[in-house]
Amino acid sequence: MTTTIQKKLENRAGIKLDLKINDNRSTMLSVKWGVKSAQVSLHRMFLDAPKNIMDSLACYLRKEEKVISPSIRVFIEQNLKKIDYSHQLKASSLYTQGNVYNLQEIYDALNRQYFGNQLKLGITWFGKVAQRRKSRVTFGLYCSVLKLIKINRLLDTPSLPEYVISYIMYHEMLHHVCPSYSGENGHYYVHTKEFKAREKLYHHYALAQRWIKDNNKSFFL
Ligand SMILES: [Zn+2]
Repeated sequence: MTTTIQKKLENRAGIKLDLKINDNRSTMLSVKWGVKSAQVSLHRMFLDAPKNIMDSLACYLRKEEKVISPSIRVFIEQNLKKIDYSHQLKASSLYTQGNVYNLQEIYDALNRQYFGNQLKLGITWFGKVAQRRKSRVTFGLYCSVLKLIKINRLLDTPSLPEYVISYIMYHEMLHHVCPSYSGENGHYYVHTKEFKAREKLYHHYALAQRWIKDNNKSFFL
C-alpha cells in the first residue's frame, strides 16, 4: 500500500520521497525537504484520498504551493471526524472526582437533560488547583479524536457556582454535537450558528454568562 501511494506521489511531485504512513493522533502531514528528496509522514487517511487531494499534495511537495491548501486541510478535518482514538484513553488516566465537584455527576445530568443520554464522551480534570492564575485561563477543552472533555481544576472551588461549571461542561459537550469545521475559503468555524443557538438552551445560560462576566477579574488575577 505504501509503495503504491509512494510511486503515485513521486510521479506527480517529480521528486524522490522517503514516505511513512502513520496512524497517530498528532501528525496528519509533515514534510522535510532535502536537496533531492523529501521526507514525508502521512496519516493513513491519505491512503483513500481522492485525486484532487493527491494533486494538491503533489503541488505542495513540489513547493508550488507554499502552504497546505484549504482543500487538504478540509480533507484532513473531515477524516479526523471519522477517526476515533478514544480506545487509546486509559480509564486510569481520567479523574472525575474533584474536591468540590464531581465531573461525572455534572456530565451525566446534562447528558440526560439535553442529549437524551446519547453522548458517550470521556471526561477529566486537567491542570492544578494551585496553578498560578494567568490573565487568560482555558475553562474547558474538547478533544474530538479522543472524544474527551477536559475541565480546568481551577473551577473546582466552592466560590464557583455549580450552574457555571455545568454550563462550561455543556459548552464542551456541544462541541461534540456541533463540530467546528474549515470552510473552503480557509476560514475556521468553531462556534457555529447552530452551536450558539443550542448554547442558549442551557437553563441558566444568562445567569452563567453574567457570573463569568462579573467574576472575571476576581477569578483571574
Ligand atoms: Zn467553545
